[in-house]
Amino acid sequence: MFLRKTLVAIFGFGLISSLALVQPARASQDILIGGGSVTGVYYQVALHVCNLLNKYNSESYNCVGRPALGSVFNIRAVERGLLDIGVAQSDRNFEAVNGLGEFSGKPQDNLRSLFSMHPETILLVARKDSGISNVSELKGKFINIGNPGSGQRGNAEDVLRLHGLNSDGDIKAEGLQQQEASRALVDKKIDAFFYTVGNPAAAIEEPANSTEISIIPLNSDVIQNFVNERSYYVMTTIPAGTYTGVDNDVETYAVTATVVTNAGASEDMIYDLVKTIFSNLEELQKAHKAFRVLTPESMLNGLTAPFHPGALRYYKEQGWK
Ligand code: GLU
Repeated sequence: MFLRKTLVAIFGFGLISSLALVQPARASQDILIGGGSVTGVYYQVALHVCNLLNKYNSESYNCVGRPALGSVFNIRAVERGLLDIGVAQSDRNFEAVNGLGEFSGKPQDNLRSLFSMHPETILLVARKDSGISNVSELKGKFINIGNPGSGQRGNAEDVLRLHGLNSDGDIKAEGLQQQEASRALVDKKIDAFFYTVGNPAAAIEEPANSTEISIIPLNSDVIQNFVNERSYYVMTTIPAGTYTGVDNDVETYAVTATVVTNAGASEDMIYDLVKTIFSNLEELQKAHKAFRVLTPESMLNGLTAPFHPGALRYYKEQGWK
């Protein structure tokens, strides 16, 4: 109860009253999945995974997908039992398991993997009239690097550092959540933002449809070397036309969205969830454009935390592990 109360306080939503509305007559297990900003893709992962679980196991589970603060927050919340399941970038998953980056000295030993989802690109989106055409030109500008707890914040810090810039002095760094950052770009309160997200994302479509934007390539030699040294990064291209007004291919790098839980999560629940997802993969693929590329093979790649035993049971049954 304490955890649920804390959670309501954290999210500031009437979670308990909304749960009461959708509670089926028969007792079922409540599951809470945390995503990201409402205009990102993690929230869509949380919603659609829950939709499938509820649809095919309505008597057993009552799964709720909520917006949350992103990768680092979700990993910590899963570790503390505030969330049953969370969505997190593969680079943050790696750092959490190995006690690196924002998890420095604090390896998250209870983190367990379910599966990977869509690829996410590291995006640097600028308003065209800001005149920004490369990373060096961010100097002195108002730049959103992502809210604390987000996965993109670490990516922004990496890109800045690799180009000799410091978020604490060389730029005017903001820490807005993404739905606010997209609006702030249009309102000229910031000049650019970093966001690590699957495409197409509403968070980019909204400003692209309201002002002229450019997506700055992140393909310098220093970035390519950085990517080559890390197994969880790949260079990729965002095709021209993905967003209104961005008529050129944009080269950048990418991570994978991963779905994680706590080692203590019920084995039967995780087995049922994983089985439901893979048995109805076509439905999930159709739920969002970013999910079209999902295959069982891609979904078992890119994970650092060990598989949860419930997931492993299903993968072994399928002969995939
Ligand atoms: N990659 C972002 C993060 O880890 C979230 C992106 C999204 O919500 O789709 O915070």
